[in-house]
Amino acid sequence: MTKFKTLDDLGDLTGKVVLVRVDLNLPMDGVRVTDDTRVRASAPTILELADKGAKVLLLAHFGRPKGEKVSTMSVSMTLDAVQAVLGREVMFVPEIAGPVVAQSIGILQPGDIALLENTRFWKGEEANDPELAKAIAANADLYVNDAFSAAHRAHVSTEGLAHLLPSYAGRSMEAELKALEAALGQPERPVAAVVGGAKVSSKLDVLTHLVTKVDHLIIGGGMANTFLAARGVNVGKSLCEHELAPTCEAILASADKAGCTVHLPYDVVVAKEFAANPPSLRTCNVHEVAADEMILDIGPQATEALADVLKTCKTLVWNGPLGAFETPPFDAATVALAKSAAALTKEGALVSVAGGGDTVAALAHAGAAQDFTYISTAGGAFLEWMEGKALPGVTALEQAQ
Ligand code: ADP
Ligand code: MG
Repeated sequence: MTKFKTLDDLGDLTGKVVLVRVDLNLPMDGVRVTDDTRVRASAPTILELADKGAKVLLLAHFGRPKGEKVSTMSVSMTLDAVQAVLGREVMFVPEIAGPVVAQSIGILQPGDIALLENTRFWKGEEANDPELAKAIAANADLYVNDAFSAAHRAHVSTEGLAHLLPSYAGRSMEAELKALEAALGQPERPVAAVVGGAKVSSKLDVLTHLVTKVDHLIIGGGMANTFLAARGVNVGKSLCEHELAPTCEAILASADKAGCTVHLPYDVVVAKEFAANPPSLRTCNVHEVAADEMILDIGPQATEALADVLKTCKTLVWNGPLGAFETPPFDAATVALAKSAAALTKEGALVSVAGGGDTVAALAHAGAAQDFTYISTAGGAFLEWMEGKALPGVTALEQAQ
């Protein structure tokens, strides 16, 4: 298990100033926040620190202002949503360091919460500038990182501060790291990985890493087409990266060497046009795809066989839908396998961890998300973790020990 301090290591914090890195990069419809999931994820950490008597200063980025003060990217746009989720008043401070922050801290009472401005308004943030880190740390006593989703970045607010202040993982960070550790760190075997989505090229490092870690690699989505083509299957006009055939062969060879069984579909759902319930829709063996057809989902027989594979496994990690799930009926395989995984998890037979923007949407669409052991909403950080990379924000917390 990775070692880092958590809020359990903190006692009474009366009057202590705690910087908390949270994820407030919330989706907006222009003026209003449309999804407050990320705020809800960090609410337990924020409230726990406030209830221990700390003066809580929230640090977050919002959009990509690239070191400029862009008024439409002020993190104050999220203030109403933050206050609504926390059920407390939050003071907005239009700076992240210096005397304005110091004065605000003077006004705050123990247990009060303030939201500091968008960290990315300052060029030093993304450059991990030690001077900016020092200036921010000068106003605070402790640092808590609760933004796993930003942990793949070595920025001041995600990494630099951990070297300057006593540092702790927040509750959401802690839960994420524990779930990921259970899935790929020290998992119960056998382990299955589902990797789907559009392109092999976007997940090459994921595949290369997983074949050395898991017992079963299930490949679906557009990337299955590329693997099938590499094996000499005619995939018609399917989404396919033909030029990656040698790469696919290398991945299959290293899977073989590592004792990892790779599962490619043997039946598929095809159509001549990409539309909802198209008249040309049919299911066929992978060797029967016509030149003018495209593979848009894996077939029912393959899906059933994959569900049987999951029954033999103790751990599942899933990234990427098995088909073009946004368009019916090409969601069928993803929905069916997600339901199987959810049922096995509910029975206590499987630890299931999933992540990725479209994957989270697909599992929610399947009605399976709430039964998975853990769903990561951290897109980029989750993928880098699946690639086996060390995440700078996490490493810094471990070094802060
Ligand atoms: P995630 O965001 O979970 O990492 P990706 O972005 O890699 O997932 O892939 C999701 C996309 O892959 C979806 O938009 C889906 O429609 C598409 N996709 C899956 N299978 C196919 C297919 N056979 N043909 C075309 N697109 C596909
Ligand atoms: Mg995606």
